[in-house]
Amino acid sequence: MTDITASPVAGARDDRSPHYILEHTFGYTGFRGDQQAIIDTLVNGADALVLMPTGGGKSLCYQIPALARSGCGIVISPLIALMQDQVEALRAAGVSAAFLNSSLDFREAQDIEDQLMRGDLELLYLAPERLLQPRTLDLLERAEIALFAIDEAHCVSQWGHDFRADYLQLSCLHQRFPQVPRVALTATADQRTRREIAQRLDLAEARHFVSSFDRPNIQYRIAPKNNPKRQLLQFLTSEQLGNAGVIYCLSRNKVESTAQWLQQQGFNALPYHAGLSTNMRAEHQRRFLREEGVIVVATIAFGMGIDKPDVRFVAHLDLPKSVEAYYQETGRAGRDGEPATALLLYGLEDVVKLSQMAATSEGSEEHKRQERQRLDAMLGLCEITSCRRKALLRYFNEELTADCGNCDTCLEPPATWDASDAARKLMSCIYRTGQRFGAAHVIDVLRGADTEKIRQFQHTQLSTYGIGADLSGNEWRAITRQLVVRGYLQVNPEAFNALQLTEQCRPVLRSEENLQLRTLPKAPPKTAKGSGESRSRAPVEIADADIPLWDALRALRKSLAEERGVPPYVVFHDATLREMLSARPRNEAEMLAISGIGDSKLARFGEPFLTLLREFESDSAAHTDD
Ligand code: ADP
Ligand code: ZN
Repeated sequence: MTDITASPVAGARDDRSPHYILEHTFGYTGFRGDQQAIIDTLVNGADALVLMPTGGGKSLCYQIPALARSGCGIVISPLIALMQDQVEALRAAGVSAAFLNSSLDFREAQDIEDQLMRGDLELLYLAPERLLQPRTLDLLERAEIALFAIDEAHCVSQWGHDFRADYLQLSCLHQRFPQVPRVALTATADQRTRREIAQRLDLAEARHFVSSFDRPNIQYRIAPKNNPKRQLLQFLTSEQLGNAGVIYCLSRNKVESTAQWLQQQGFNALPYHAGLSTNMRAEHQRRFLREEGVIVVATIAFGMGIDKPDVRFVAHLDLPKSVEAYYQETGRAGRDGEPATALLLYGLEDVVKLSQMAATSEGSEEHKRQERQRLDAMLGLCEITSCRRKALLRYFNEELTADCGNCDTCLEPPATWDASDAARKLMSCIYRTGQRFGAAHVIDVLRGADTEKIRQFQHTQLSTYGIGADLSGNEWRAITRQLVVRGYLQVNPEAFNALQLTEQCRPVLRSEENLQLRTLPKAPPKTAKGSGESRSRAPVEIADADIPLWDALRALRKSLAEERGVPPYVVFHDATLREMLSARPRNEAEMLAISGIGDSKLARFGEPFLTLLREFESDSAAHTDD
């Protein structure tokens, strides 16, 4: 075996090439995407600006150069709550890492400062406010610094929702440490933010590295709301049992009630929203990170802090306000590159509610117009009948050459039907009732219902009364929703959300235009028939025969993690366990060949896992002997 005992010695860094560190410290065989070029830039002392999607592998871009250069790498991150986990993960890989933040007492902080001064630290994580204290800056000036990494760099943008005033002052690093290379990293895609980062962080000379924003391992699925609880339950039980995930809802009430309902259904579900006490929020976040298979039901307040690699699904029970928000929220799934699912359920009421919010939001007319445009783009993505990923990436100015094959419209091309006749009925009914009523009433009239309101307005007298009895209420809602989204109808928030016709209706009413609409799935897709559910599970599914070993590997990981008080993924990621399951390494050399196992993890965890694998090996040998 090659020198796994070789320990890094300060001053002997030259023999530690980035590739050597990648293999021996992190246990990976090759760089991904721009990683190598970014690392080389920093190792050579130049600055870089890195835009990479979540899960793209940003951390290695500064961790490896910090290890390859002499001195300590300083990582500036706004997420105090996560520093500890990041540091644990590095320590498990044998890196001398630490953090300085307000959770440490004076002596602990002093100890870390001493380590820094002695040159014993390879990576130090700091919150910006800590860094900017004159005392810290003085300290850093006396230490040897390998580089500065500014994580979540979009926090300098005053337009984004993660703005941190402290970030603006980070430009001082350039003046105070002109020789030290700096790298700013973010997963925020748009041009304006990129320009702002370069400008505000004084990174004019930095090389820009812009990766593709595609997240191929995320399967995008957007389904009309039919019976959302049943749809969610179906999704969770048939595809996501035992998996960690996030479920987003718009309101705190809905978060509470959904979490409660899921608990009653036997799921480990926790609510998270800004109305909960700080303690409870921290506790729920902690459990999400440390335990396996926890589902957090949350408002968007559960955001940037979720640095968990093995989130297997993100579900939206309400429509996000914009494609940007949708992309960012779904992006929290599958950071580890393993298959993950983004499921969005949306219905007519979402369209109405958000149109109303956009129209009545505070701000100028221009602002409202922009909100409306953002919402329309989101709705367009929902109703599209071609590849979702293509549309999503096009929104961020990226062209995908072929359809993705991993979204619902690619996997199950949506059926459409000629809805011209139905649309005309709906339009005339809206017209005959005076364009004064919301969808519920219009649909009642169409279906010939007998309600208080219908009697009150004598709508039984209308020529359109009962002409739509052949379609269900759900079907009419789906038609209405699609006509609103496509601009044939509008919802007037100033008149009790009354449905109104737009100019676009004319050709349809004159039979000059045909309308193809999506057919409404009769029931939640793939109901409890037990069939057809294999598709999206397939990539993560474990063969029946392997389940006992898989469970044993996970149990061992859990107990090792608990002993050390770290999340399970700090021991090994799912992908590493899965590779162990298929490769069945029998000795240390074979173990080292597994992705995610470097020298230090082998030394720490190799033996217990090898022992477990050997036990299973001899068990199955015993069986084949009978
Ligand atoms: P980001 O910070 O961009 O969201 P991370 O740095 O957390 O992404 O990396 C995402 C995942 O990819 C992690 O599990 C990481 O270990 C893994 N990873 C990163 N680079 C590589 C690589 N070159 N080979 C294999 N796995 C990698
Ligand atoms: Zn697709």
